[in-house]
Amino acid sequence: MQEFVGNCKACKKQIFCNDGFINGVVLDDKTLICFDCHDKPQEPIEPDER
Ligand SMILES: [Zn+2]
Repeated sequence: MQEFVGNCKACKKQIFCNDGFINGVVLDDKTLICFDCHDKPQEPIEPDER
């Protein structure tokens, strides 16, 4: 059973809940972000250039 939860705040992809498992992460401000965007943050705070 699949239930629509919301859209990823980064890429706007639809995030669903499968049998209690959400295909993403709920942030503290209750916004949703998919695992893809969660794995690769779009705003690197410490640029690693040397
Ligand atoms: Zn995303």
